[in-house]
Amino acid sequence: MLADLEKRYQDLEDVIRGYNPSANFAQIRQAYEFARDNHGTQLRKDGSPFVTHPLAVARIVADELRLDSESIVAALLHDTIEDTGATHEQVAKMFSPTVADLVEGVSKLTRVHYTSKEEEQMENLRKMLLAMSKDIRVILVKIADRLHNMRTMEYQTPAKQKQKSFETMEIYAPIAHRLGMQKMKWELEDLSLKYLDPIGYQEIVSTLENNAAEYEAFMEEVDRQIGARLKESGIADAVVYGRTKHPYSIYRKMYTQNKRLDDVFDLFAFRVIVEEVADCYNVLGIIHDMYKPILGRFKDYIGTPKPNMYQSLHTTVLGDHGIPFEVQIRTHEMHEVAEYGIAAHWKYKNGGRGIGEESRYEWVRRLLENQEGADAEEYIHSLKVDMFADEVFVFTPQGDVINLPAGATPIDFAYYIHSAVGNSMVSAKVNGRIVQLTHRLQNGDVVEITTSKSAHGPSRDWLKIARSSNARSKIRQWFKREKRDENIVNGRQSFESELKRAMGVSLKEVLSDEGVLNTIKRLSYNNVDDMYAAIGYGGITSQKVVGRLREDIQRMIHQKQMERQEEEPVPEQPEVIRPVIPQRRSGEKGIIVEGLNNCLVKFSKCCAPVPGDPIEGFITRGYGVSIHRADCPNVLRDKEKPELAGRWLRVSWADKLEESYHTTIQIVARDRNNLLVDVSTAFSATKTRITSLNARPVTVDGFGVLDVGIEVEDGQQLKTVMNRLEQIPGVMKVTRPTG
Ligand code: MN
Repeated sequence: MLADLEKRYQDLEDVIRGYNPSANFAQIRQAYEFARDNHGTQLRKDGSPFVTHPLAVARIVADELRLDSESIVAALLHDTIEDTGATHEQVAKMFSPTVADLVEGVSKLTRVHYTSKEEEQMENLRKMLLAMSKDIRVILVKIADRLHNMRTMEYQTPAKQKQKSFETMEIYAPIAHRLGMQKMKWELEDLSLKYLDPIGYQEIVSTLENNAAEYEAFMEEVDRQIGARLKESGIADAVVYGRTKHPYSIYRKMYTQNKRLDDVFDLFAFRVIVEEVADCYNVLGIIHDMYKPILGRFKDYIGTPKPNMYQSLHTTVLGDHGIPFEVQIRTHEMHEVAEYGIAAHWKYKNGGRGIGEESRYEWVRRLLENQEGADAEEYIHSLKVDMFADEVFVFTPQGDVINLPAGATPIDFAYYIHSAVGNSMVSAKVNGRIVQLTHRLQNGDVVEITTSKSAHGPSRDWLKIARSSNARSKIRQWFKREKRDENIVNGRQSFESELKRAMGVSLKEVLSDEGVLNTIKRLSYNNVDDMYAAIGYGGITSQKVVGRLREDIQRMIHQKQMERQEEEPVPEQPEVIRPVIPQRRSGEKGIIVEGLNNCLVKFSKCCAPVPGDPIEGFITRGYGVSIHRADCPNVLRDKEKPELAGRWLRVSWADKLEESYHTTIQIVARDRNNLLVDVSTAFSATKTRITSLNARPVTVDGFGVLDVGIEVEDGQQLKTVMNRLEQIPGVMKVTRPTG
């Protein structure tokens, strides 16, 4: 048995020597022995020593992909970390950190589990595997591993056969295709079909076998015809050969075109491989001259390469016996790329063609980082799958793949699932472990979110932590909706400090200027609170708002400076020292607002204060400071609200008052003749002007209510009027209404 293993190993070395004589054979042997010893007595399902599997995978990597020494070593070791006691450290120490990373990378891919999903999920899974591979060699070794497992699938249970075949068909064959590895793709597809639809597969294979002699004869004849004609035309060194198409490609045509096997259009494909691109088009002309081309079947993939950089001319023609066949025409170089895809890169390197050639492989370039100017070895080491560098792919606990921006956190994940999940998230687990919400998700992570009905909702920090615009906008929506009051307070603070910082003005000054307030309304906010709320939830920045108000604020500042100059003329020479006379305290409408001059003041309608009343000031939504009586029920109620705490101002009556103040009184009286005359007399006797009067009955037994709007000089006059009214016969009550 050991002798048999040694022979297999020697065969592997021979293959490697065939294309890379300077390979690191010492390390390759060491890897083989390490794998052999570590897998020990483990057996494969067919009873052979387990190490035959890594040997076979290494053989595929050498034979069919011709990869470098590190890839061979990684292929030999690919199951040691997963299936034996070997560790990353051990492999890194014995071989190299790169080899250890490759092996670890293959193991990680092995751990990804697949379930049947819709196409979009499958595409995400494929991208995830590619993104997880980081180094392209990881996915190449993994595909070789899968190919060997598929080749030896007959020893597995039928359930396992189906499952692995499904994965191969849905995941690995498309990846091989994407990397341009047509040959491996076909084999993977055929092997999968064998287990997924054994009857369909068998029908095709046996038909091909039964007619093999006939097909061979036909193909040889066509080969000969084409070969002879090319020679005549001076294209002597062309390689011509025919083949029947591979079973899965025939199967798919039967299936998608709903045809029986006999009706499948083209079973045969011929290849003409030439030296120069120009020859390709010459050959095409010759073929079309020899056989009748079928319309609509010509494709120029040389002029327009496929996304995976496949290049060829395709045409389908009718042969002598009315049998259609496809002809693919390409150069040797194109052929290598068609067969081996990205792996062809190594062939060119070893075939002595310069790295400069690579610049033509745009698609390879897209896969690579910092390729230009790098030398060959460095170049291979820098091979990375960076197609998905800006994305990360993670699993839900149900196995769905979620695609998030790179750097995404559990917060992004939660909001991707649903805004309700994000809003009620209390903690997150990644691969079964609780992580912080700032944790950056890695490809292949399984993410689980714990929610709670009593969760407080997102915190504002989350806006900084989340990477996806989806999560951020959902968090902002939440704040907009749930935290209006808090947003107003926060927005006001932010706006106020930005005003100070950028313009050097206070909030109160700004709010007292009608021009600025009008501009705020034009910014499509109904009032100042709406604007604060928008700033608070992050819908707009305070910097932006201040920027838009800049002109108004500058105008306001300028105006104030002008006013000040008018009020305080520059004293004439010689300067005399004047005695300090206490200035009369004055203010807008007879109200002093603490710390503010000239601010817009209005008297609240609910309690209509008059001079002498204890008062409070409140910054309103866009109309300056509203003055209330201190005992106004609205004041008493609103003072309880913590979110309004920042909006109360100390105000007082000035020495200099207006001529009169508007207020209202309410009189409840039993209606009688001349009641209104007596009431009017009371007002005129006290020189009180009536601005409005509204009478309405309240009860059936003759009581009525009079609401009277009046103008008084101050509280003293008001008190006098009210006393006078109370003395009128029939008047039950005189009050100042509030609320
Ligand atoms: Mn394996």
